[in-house]
Amino acid sequence: MNALPADQLHTLRVVERDATSVNPHYVGGEWLGDDREDRIAVINPATEDTVGHVYAGTPEDIDRAVAAARAAFLEWSSAPLRDRVDLLQRVGALIAAHREQLALLITRELGMPLRLTLEVQVDSPARAFSRIGAYAEQVSWEQQAGNTTVVKEPVGVVGAITPWNFPLEQVAVKVAPALVAGCTVVLKPSEVTPLSAVALAEIFDAVGVPAGVFNVVNGVGPVVGEALAGHPGVDMVSFTGSTRTGRRVSELASANITPVAVELGGKSPNVILDGAPLEEAVTAGVASCYFNAGQTCSALTRMLVPQSRLAEVEELAVAAAQRYEVGDPLEDSTAIGPLVSEVQRERVRGYIERGVQEGAELLLGGATEPAGVSQGYYVPATVFTKVSGEMRIAQEEIFGPVLSIIPYEDEAEAIRLANGTPYGLAAAVWADSRERALAVARELRAGQVQINGGEDDPSAPFGGFKQSGHGRENGFWGIEEFLAPKALLS
Ligand code: NDP
Repeated sequence: MNALPADQLHTLRVVERDATSVNPHYVGGEWLGDDREDRIAVINPATEDTVGHVYAGTPEDIDRAVAAARAAFLEWSSAPLRDRVDLLQRVGALIAAHREQLALLITRELGMPLRLTLEVQVDSPARAFSRIGAYAEQVSWEQQAGNTTVVKEPVGVVGAITPWNFPLEQVAVKVAPALVAGCTVVLKPSEVTPLSAVALAEIFDAVGVPAGVFNVVNGVGPVVGEALAGHPGVDMVSFTGSTRTGRRVSELASANITPVAVELGGKSPNVILDGAPLEEAVTAGVASCYFNAGQTCSALTRMLVPQSRLAEVEELAVAAAQRYEVGDPLEDSTAIGPLVSEVQRERVRGYIERGVQEGAELLLGGATEPAGVSQGYYVPATVFTKVSGEMRIAQEEIFGPVLSIIPYEDEAEAIRLANGTPYGLAAAVWADSRERALAVARELRAGQVQINGGEDDPSAPFGGFKQSGHGRENGFWGIEEFLAPKALLS
């Protein structure tokens, strides 16, 4: 990572401000909001303390930001690609240079253990910016077809609406490709974790982004999010979050025939075939399920196992889950921090209670406080077994550390169960050979499938089938989302 020399480092203002201060919007290169009353408190989910505030934006703030983005579009989109790449790489370098500050800020608003936050919530978004030039080189900016030259042009002003679970990373995988494509952006981050977006605006400001190219308006979804999704001055909406909200955003955008890319929920299966390396497959599945306290859209929350191996799998899963220490996200030993909010904790507890009522067998955890916890929105590592495909805990996205083990009789049933939810975001297949795993992977309706533990790849397209959404992020596919072909017939 290209960290800047230490003499160019400074403390981010969003880090310096005390918990009672309010962080402004960033619109048209200016910091806005000093005259506002309405504010949103940001809560540390581990301590339940207020750690900062942002202004609650209005539809007028969105009007202003969209106007600034429209005004900036022509110059930004006609700037040489190299200039856009350079600026974004400087953003990546400054994120890396402020690594510790940003990680602490994100741990305080999200609750993810600091040790993991450094890598996942800071290094990864830094790379999304610093590698964008390499992905841009893979885009076919101009192609011949018959007697036609096809040029790819930026779609225009992008309205980006992002979730709280990977606050900076989810912003980076939209903003870096949109800007390199030549689009300008109005970002509405989640009201639950807005501070990292304020930090990013500071970083953009520090690298001298032209006014209006990148704008941040904070506020609540039903006000600011809806104003952005339905704005006639927005040329494309890029949304990540729940399927319910994705549907609403799509409806609003459709009034203006605005294209929408939506990355929504998941209920991803970990298909363990007979003969697979059982311990490795179960351990990796548990790790995926509990990552970020289960608040990950691609988490492998359903473990599909042969009925004949169920008892072994149960034992391995419980042993693996017991190694996940739940507690203070600032402690190095912590693997699972609190859930992001009280609302989220209650939602997850509700699902656990529902699983028990529906007849699933609770092997570990439950809808109670983890041992030794007196504050914070914690849920213990939870394992259900003998879950059937139609139970709600097998069908719906829980977004908490809850694993459902689902037995099957034969491979055909495994595939049917794996495909048997409204979602299709991610999956994993484990088998005794790569060929067999690949054959089953080809039968799965999911945007990304891990083969025998295949590693995460930020250059691979990421996105869903079915109600997990449409559109693809990451790699050069992420840039192409923000481009439209124009045919020059000659
Ligand atoms: P939402 O879908 O409600 O939030 C995602 C983003 O959309 C946030 O910025 C939110 O703003 C905004 N938003 C909310 N309502 C509207 C609206 N009417 N119009 C436009 N924008 C809106 O997710 P939640 O944060 O409420 O999480 C609920 C569930 O969604 C989770 O339990 C999980 O199942 C799923 N989820 C999935 C994610 C994924 O990565 N696929 C990510 C996050 C959640 P605000 O924060 O102000 O509400």
